[in-house]
Parts: sequence; structure tokens; C-alpha cells
Amino acid sequence: MFSKKFQRKYALTDQGLRNTKRGAFWTVIVNLVVMGGMGILYLLTGSFMETLTEEKNLPTVVFPIALTVLFLVLSFLTHLQQYQATYGLVYNEVKATRLSMAERLRKLPLGYFGKRDLADLTETLLGDVNRMEHVWSHVLGYLYGAYISTSLIAVCLFVYDWRLAIACLWGVPAAFGLLFGSRKIAARASERTKKAALRVSDGIQEALENVREIRATNQEELYLDRLNQKIDEHERIMTRGELGTGIFVNAASVIMRLGVATTILTGAGLILSGEINFMLLFLFLLVITRIYAPFDQSLALIAEMIISQVSADRITELYETPAANGNSKFTPNGHDIVFEHVHFAYDEKEVLHDVSFTAKEGEVTALVGPSGSGKSTCARLAARLWDITGGKILVGGIDISKVDPEVLLTDYSMVFQDVILFDDTVMENIRLGKRGATDAEVLAAAQAANCEEFVRHLPQGYDTPIGENGARLSGGERQRISIARALLKDAPILLLDEATASLDVENETKVQEALSRLLAGKTVLVIAHRMRTVEAADKIIVLSDGQVVEEGAPTELMSRDGLFRHMVELQRQSAGWSLK
Ligand code: ADP
Repeated sequence: MFSKKFQRKYALTDQGLRNTKRGAFWTVIVNLVVMGGMGILYLLTGSFMETLTEEKNLPTVVFPIALTVLFLVLSFLTHLQQYQATYGLVYNEVKATRLSMAERLRKLPLGYFGKRDLADLTETLLGDVNRMEHVWSHVLGYLYGAYISTSLIAVCLFVYDWRLAIACLWGVPAAFGLLFGSRKIAARASERTKKAALRVSDGIQEALENVREIRATNQEELYLDRLNQKIDEHERIMTRGELGTGIFVNAASVIMRLGVATTILTGAGLILSGEINFMLLFLFLLVITRIYAPFDQSLALIAEMIISQVSADRITELYETPAANGNSKFTPNGHDIVFEHVHFAYDEKEVLHDVSFTAKEGEVTALVGPSGSGKSTCARLAARLWDITGGKILVGGIDISKVDPEVLLTDYSMVFQDVILFDDTVMENIRLGKRGATDAEVLAAAQAANCEEFVRHLPQGYDTPIGENGARLSGGERQRISIARALLKDAPILLLDEATASLDVENETKVQEALSRLLAGKTVLVIAHRMRTVEAADKIIVLSDGQVVEEGAPTELMSRDGLFRHMVELQRQSAGWSLK
């Protein structure tokens, strides 16, 4: 029962599985003790009835009182144990699950985060785990404990009288059958509710992110209307879902209770035909009140368990996404980046076909090509942000797919367009480049990256908080911070995505100056958009539709009548000097 499959199904950690077993064990004991209480009641009633019918003297009160006290003490102690084994321990389980999920996230290929949207991932870490918390604490131990104890009691009932036992117990499988039969409906409703909720949170996030554009274009009402619609829809879907499961839960509960009626009817029949005496029926009626109790509780819980299956699956999916592992030692021989017949697909569709090129150490290698030709993809692959589907990528002769991404990345600096800044000071944002860098080192890097001049105008200089994701900085300024980080890190490989957004002339010159300091002596792979960069590159790789179509020094390529020359001429004819 409590197998690996069970553990996966409910997204339990190893400790969680052990705790659930404990919870189930104590639930069995509690249910048996309570049943024992019924036994005591039966015995006492029996002996009391004997005094009535056979005119015996009343038994002494000492024995029944002692028995009752014993029962109460036992009941208290076992309930206490059950409580600790179910509620108490589960809080550790929540913590353990979140920690192990975070650990897992750390190991996942970075590409995974591009695939799953952030709101969805947060929902799994917080919402799904919360939902499971209730299942772990209130459902699993209780329910599986109840299965075991009821099976034991059912065996006893069958031994006493199989006809009454059937009359008394048929409702249990019928009720459960109904619930499990409706499982698909409940799961679908839950999935639908969750999707609607995600649409609402996505809508809110989108509105917040685009608040400027929305205001600028006077679209507030349109946006709010759309959000309102999403919220209404969520409410509707949720109500319908709850109603659906509610009907099944209540129907199951009614069916189970029909067992009382059938027991009385069968019992009465059997008494009339003289096959059993009244006391046996009385015993069954006592038992019946208790045998349904754990299930009555758990019927609603089962519904919850079914609904929560979606959450459990999402957690399990996270655990089962293959991690990007690898050797924690990385000792390359130099830092040439070599692509050997690389194939790659983000999902089904292949976007790089048999790409081979070399980016030499100490040189600037520029990737150019039309938009969508695979330039960014090549840059991401060079840092193992994704794993390739065919071929090999070597850095200093070492296959990077065999190297732990965390270790590999220590040799890379990346200056991409979407610079991620944290809501901290300028100083701390630059310090991210190198953990434990001294203030002097940070300042030197900032100067080399031409940050000095704009930082001077900030109210508290380097100690100015820059707002969430650098809201207070311009594109060029953000990029200079990112360059400063890279300078500070001073990694041998630099992946660079030039800004496409046109910076003002002054900003551009400053960024260029900063970059030239950064490039010296490194293996530089740049996604080039500017003529200047392209002309200054040592080597150019021209990509088109995921294939290398030309390769060579800029002058060499210009002398050929190929895509590169064509692109350059096109750019020269148009006013802009930038390559896109
Ligand atoms: P470039 O940088 O040259 O504009 P990209 O490397 O960004 O080109 O894109 C190459 C191809 O891969 C395009 O067809 C693009 O649609 C696709 N692509 C890029 N990123 C993703 C992604 N995260 N998921 C799926 N497809 C992607």
C-alpha cells in the first residue's frame, strides 16, 4: 500500500512517507480503541439486560467504572499520538518539500525556466504545496488508517454474522465507488479552476507590467473589463466545480448511511425468524455508528484528495524533470568554444541544424543573421543553458554537457539585453558579479564600465536603491551595470548580446568604451547588431534558418557575394547603421 508509487502519487518526501505510515498506524489504533469502547458498552448493556430478564442482582459498579476509565485514558493517549503523527509532523513535511523543490529548481537546466511561466512555478511552490499540506495532514493517514481498521472490523463482523455484516457494510464500497467513479469529473473541474485562476493572476501581472503603455494609450477600461471577465469566469468555474464535487460527496454519504436502514431491516427479519437475538443486532448497530465515522470524515477528504491530485502531479513533474548534472571539476585547456555538428530543438521543431564553428580565445566572434536565425540560441547553448539534441559543444576541449552547469558558469560572463537588476543599491547590484568583492573592486569595475558619470547624478551615489528591476535606470545605464558586473567577474568567456534598442549617441559611446575594456583577451561570442562591432570582429558567423551559411573575417566576407555582403549593403542603403 505505502509503496514508491504511493509516495510519487502524493508527492511525499521519504520522511513524509514514514510519517504517513505512522499516522495510518495510529489511526488504526485509535479506531480499534474506539471500537473497543463500543464493545464495553455492549458488554455493560448485556449484563444490565440480564439483570432485568433473569432477575439477577445489579453487578457492582466498580468494574464498569474501571473499564470506562481505562477506555478514556487509552482513547486520550492514542488520539494524542495520532494527532502528533498526522498534524504535528506535517509542518516539517511542508518545509522539507519546499526545500527539496528549491534544491531541485537549482539543478534544473536554466532553459526549463523559459518553458514554464513564472506565475505557474510560484503557484506550484506556494499554492500546490499548501494544498498538499492539508492532504498530508488531514487525509492520507486518516484515510488509509480507516481502510485498514475497517477491514479488520469487517472481518470480525463477518465472523459474528455474515448476513448482518453485508447489510451493514455494503454502503462503504458503494459510496467509495461512486466517489472514485466521479474522480475524472472532479479532477477536470479542479484543473479548469486552476487554469482560470492562473489566467486571472496572469492578467493582473500583465496589467501591472504594462501599466505605462495602458495609461499612455487610454486603455484602462478595456483592460479592466477584460480582467473583470476573467475574474467572473474564474468564479463561475469554481462554483460549478465545487457544486459538482459537493453533489457526489453528499450522495456518497447518503448511500453509506443507508447501511443503517438495511441493517435494521435485515436484523429485524432475522430476529423474527429466530435466527439471532436482539443483542447481536444491538452490537451491530453500535458498531455501525462508529464504522461510518472515519469514512464520513474522509468522504469530503477523498474529494479533496482527488482535486489535489493535480497539485501533486505538478509537484511530481518538477521532481521528475531531468536535472542538468555533470562533473563538478572543469579544467579546460584554454577557452576556445567549438560547436561540432550541433542540432537543437526547444520543443519538437529543430531550430539549429548541424551548426559547426569555432570561437577562439582572445578573439571576438560575431554571430550575425536575420532575426530568428538562431543567434541567441547559439549563445545560450554555449553556456549550457539548454542541452543540445545532437552533436557536441566543447570548451577548451571539454564537452560541456558533462560539466555541472553551476561550475561551468563560473567561467562565463553574460551581458544580455534583458539585464536583471535587483531592488538593491547600485553597489550591491554590481557586486553580484563576484561574491565577496571589496568596495574598491566594485568601484574600479564601475569606473571601467563608465558607470561613474551617471551614478554621480544619483541622490546617494553608489548607495542609491535602484527600484525593482532597475526601474529608475535607462537602458544604457542598465547595460553598463551589467558590463561592470562582467568586468568584476572577469571570466574568460564572454557572451554578449548587443542592445538593439537604439541608445543615444553619448550612451552608445560610453557602452562601447566599456565593452572594449571588457573584451580584451577573452573568448567573446557576440550577437552583433551594430556595424561597428561587426567590422571590428575577428570572425563572423552568418546564420540563416538555423544553419551556418558563411564564416570568415569581415573583409573576406565582404569580398564574397553572399548573405553577409547583401545584409551590409541593405543596411548601408537604409539610414540606420545597425544590423538586425
Ligand atoms: P535570433 O537570436 O537569431 O533572433 P533565436 O535564437 O532567438 O534567433 O531563435 C531561433 C529560433 O528559435 C526561432 O525560430 C525562435 O522562434 C525559436 N525560439 C527562440 N527561443 C525559443 C524558446 N524559448 N522556445 C521555443 N522556441 C524558441
